[in-house]
Amino acid sequence: MAERMVIIGGDAAGMSAGSQARRLRGPDDLEIVAFERGDFTSYSACGIPYWIAGMVSGPGSLIVRSPEVFRDQYAIDVRLRHEVTAIDLDRREVVVRALDDGGREIREPFDTLVYAAGAVPNPPPWPEQDVGGIFGVQTLNDGMALREWLSSHPHMRRGVVVGGGYIGVSMAESLVRRGLAVTLIDRAEQPMSTVDTELGKVVRDALVGIGVDVRSGVSATGIDHENGRVTAVHTTDGTVPADVVVLGLGVRPNTRLAAEAGLPLGVTGGIRTDPHMRVIGEPGDGANSRFAGIWAVGDCVESVHRVTGQPVHIPLGTHANKQGRIAGLNIGGVHATFPGVIGTAVNKVCGLEVARTGLLERDVQRAGYRYVTTSVESTNRAPYFPGAAPMTVKIVAERPTGRLLGAQIIGQSEAAKRIDPLAVAIWNNMTVADMTGLDLGYAPPYAPVWDPVLIAARKAANILEREAR
Ligand SMILES: Cc1cc2nc3c(=O)[nH]c(=O)nc-3n(C[C@H](O)[C@H](O)[C@H](O)COP(=O)(O)OP(=O)(O)OC[C@H]3O[C@@H](n4cnc5c(N)ncnc54)[C@H](O)[C@@H]3O)c2cc1C
Repeated sequence: MAERMVIIGGDAAGMSAGSQARRLRGPDDLEIVAFERGDFTSYSACGIPYWIAGMVSGPGSLIVRSPEVFRDQYAIDVRLRHEVTAIDLDRREVVVRALDDGGREIREPFDTLVYAAGAVPNPPPWPEQDVGGIFGVQTLNDGMALREWLSSHPHMRRGVVVGGGYIGVSMAESLVRRGLAVTLIDRAEQPMSTVDTELGKVVRDALVGIGVDVRSGVSATGIDHENGRVTAVHTTDGTVPADVVVLGLGVRPNTRLAAEAGLPLGVTGGIRTDPHMRVIGEPGDGANSRFAGIWAVGDCVESVHRVTGQPVHIPLGTHANKQGRIAGLNIGGVHATFPGVIGTAVNKVCGLEVARTGLLERDVQRAGYRYVTTSVESTNRAPYFPGAAPMTVKIVAERPTGRLLGAQIIGQSEAAKRIDPLAVAIWNNMTVADMTGLDLGYAPPYAPVWDPVLIAARKAANILEREAR
């Protein structure tokens, strides 16, 4: 009889696990069923802000693989609008509610379970539910609801975004592009807290430059509503009128079902797995563990940060896809491990490219490293070449070893992907002295003769070298 694999969550992580396992094991050997409570599989949430802004089409183009493709090409039985409500580890079954069938409850057996339920958005600080005009942007359904609201209320003028992380910042820009007057409310000192404050200031200036009213150091506290629609957001700095509110308050691992079933959660709140993405059992219980055959991948798990060795929860699509693939390879019989993360992330906002990898300066301070930091103002191309634009590269290196700990880049074009050589350097424990000799490409349309990345590394290496003399 075929082994039975059940997947909870039909997006990036879950469906990567399913498709990879299928590539290695045929349907006679492995039956795969995926339960997804929403209306879509494998879509790009990352594209939602650009779709809302009208920069890309949607929602169809944001769907990478439909349920039909999974059924026909991968022999994966995808059941949309089916919500898993419990995991019964003793009976090796999941309890599922069929949302379009009057909530009928079914029980589905499994030999192998992949928990890929993603993340849940942090809730807003007001008790009211079901007030019209307030949207998250976590799922494609959320994006569709917001698009529909904006299209069906063409006279709306005032948008408020609560939360200034990378999603909130992108959404503020998207609403401006749709013609709204936008206020961004963020309790941090500067928006875009994924980078250090001085780079966040550059993002702030860019947002202000396109007309966003950025209120930093301010918390939302409540809302006003009339006739079931939001009319204003209360903040610690007064009341802001609002016709539409978008929430970008961050996410946490979606672990309710896992926790109820007794799966182990780590200090970050994410599910603990080993490097194969197998849920970690009790010490010493080996193959007899209740968690044997249970895997967890994507935004619901915690990962190891390769620089600090500490557990972190960094919910990104890039990790979700890789972790799903690793679980699928192992389920398919190929030994594979997920090597950890270093926090590399890139974003585009208001014509700026913002990138980071490794630790921020504030992370380094908090972790108690001795460090040196350098910041370089340069250009993306030879200064005389058309399109040359300013670029800032900041790096943080360990003192006195010179090991690169983190880097951030901000610039107008060709900035974001310049973070990649720095990510590779951190991944391979390179020092800033090692980096100064890197053979990076040069031609005037692509870089100054000394690439800003090399100049930043050299500046840091010089400081450390002087100190060592
Ligand atoms: C607006 C936005 C922009 C982003 N931009 C980027 C970016 O630029 N780069 C990047 O790397 N990442 C980005 N991300 C993050 C990225 O989208 C996520 O990290 C990725 O989708 C995580 O994949 P996942 O499969 O772990 O979780 P999810 O994509 O959240 O999928 C989990 C699925 O599980 C389903 N589910 C949950 N509970 C149940 C249940 N009980 N029963 C059945 N189904 C269930 C959910 O409906 C969901 O479809 C962005 C996210 C958002 C929201």
